[in-house]
Amino acid sequence: MDANEFRRLGHALVDWIAEYRERKMPALPVMSQVKPGEIRARFPAEPPARGGGAAAALAAVDRDVLPGVTHWNHPSFFAYFPSNTSYASILGDLLSSGLGAQGMSWATSPAATEIEEVVMGWLRQMIGLSPAWSGVVQDTASTATLTALVCARERKSGFAQSHAGLQCREAPLVVYASDQAHSSIEKDACLAGFGKDHLRLLATDDAHALRLDLLEEAIRRDLAAGLRPCALVAATGTTATTALDPVAGMADLAGRYGLWLHVDAALAGTAMVLPECRWMWEGVERADSVVFNPHKWMGIGFDFSAYFVRDPQHLVRVMSTNPSYLRTAHDAEVRNLRDWGIPLGRRFRALKGWLHLVDEGVEAMQARIRRDLDNARWLAEQVDAAPGWERVAPVPLQLVCLRHGQAGARDEAAVNAHNLEIANRVNRSGRAYVTPSLLKGKQMIRISIGAEPTERRHVEALWAALREAAGED
Ligand code: PLP
Repeated sequence: MDANEFRRLGHALVDWIAEYRERKMPALPVMSQVKPGEIRARFPAEPPARGGGAAAALAAVDRDVLPGVTHWNHPSFFAYFPSNTSYASILGDLLSSGLGAQGMSWATSPAATEIEEVVMGWLRQMIGLSPAWSGVVQDTASTATLTALVCARERKSGFAQSHAGLQCREAPLVVYASDQAHSSIEKDACLAGFGKDHLRLLATDDAHALRLDLLEEAIRRDLAAGLRPCALVAATGTTATTALDPVAGMADLAGRYGLWLHVDAALAGTAMVLPECRWMWEGVERADSVVFNPHKWMGIGFDFSAYFVRDPQHLVRVMSTNPSYLRTAHDAEVRNLRDWGIPLGRRFRALKGWLHLVDEGVEAMQARIRRDLDNARWLAEQVDAAPGWERVAPVPLQLVCLRHGQAGARDEAAVNAHNLEIANRVNRSGRAYVTPSLLKGKQMIRISIGAEPTERRHVEALWAALREAAGED
């Protein structure tokens, strides 16, 4: 492809994306309806021997790709958590690919490092964290939490990694979180070398939040058994129900027992752009690390996870390698972001963050988040007022967890099956996409509001679809 063809195809592709977003997508089934293997079968099994096929391939996107796409930016996308990707963010990603620069060191593209510093400084202020925090972009919250747990491990073990690693100690280190913690916490604890036996996933209260009494009991039990408590992971907004762990109380315990406190606010971090939501993570200033995902609700497209630490020198000490070919004359004065996380190579992700923030602005973002919170409250009110329907968790944010009791059904298994079928019916209809999920053994339906184009009328239509699927009119 030469520059002229790139121009021609590129302009056409931007037009296609705008058309997809504006006109095609709203009319398509939200959840892809293809069967396993259906998309793969449309592509040749052998690689192309000769090139020159990009124009034809792009012309086939509607036929061969789109049917296998679930539309995360659809106004009736209520599944998982939002994955908003604004137009401005798309342009930022295009620019990043167009520049094709690596930001592993300041010197390999100074703008990549310095614009990231600027954008992370803006995000820090937007979510109300003090200047004591330093931020860096990671690909995902899973990676950021892994980074946090490795840093916790190294602080507690006196930098065991610089000699025999975890093998050199007899008393194992222990991590604590609630049984509602995201699955990435378990994966990260395993990858960071703690092992499942040394991860305590503690029972939660009626609002599905971590219980401080059980946490302290577990820490004391482990100490008495000769183990070494190491890290606490607090969830501000759990995945199942957006439950809020008591961050301030966890910070007290972290201080008392010398533990690392990591706050996982993957979804809820965006809500902190609203000052009235910041009570939800009161105590966060006393944590060691915080992660939130602008690639969920905020509108900066995947993959853009914001990781903040209070002690960047510790992070760099744990993560840095310093081979001669990466050293430069400026190293003492600049950030080399390869030392702020796991990968060496780094995309210029700051561009999409910068473009999204200058395009939307804080005030419009606040209005959008308030709209979504308001829509969730409205739906919660409908559920509370409707006979036969039950809300299974508080609604502090944009997620409503509900369940329908089947008239005459006595046993839990039948009610579970009935609710799974309601969710599947809605999803199969293509009118909306919701997530069926189990909460402490009970089948529920998670309604996550917050796709950028979702307005009240879409939530009203969803409520009608749910009632219809439950056998009501
Ligand atoms: N933590 C919480 C609370 C989440 O809800 C999620 C994803 O939904 C994650 C972590 C993982 O996010 P990521 O996909 O960025 O790793």
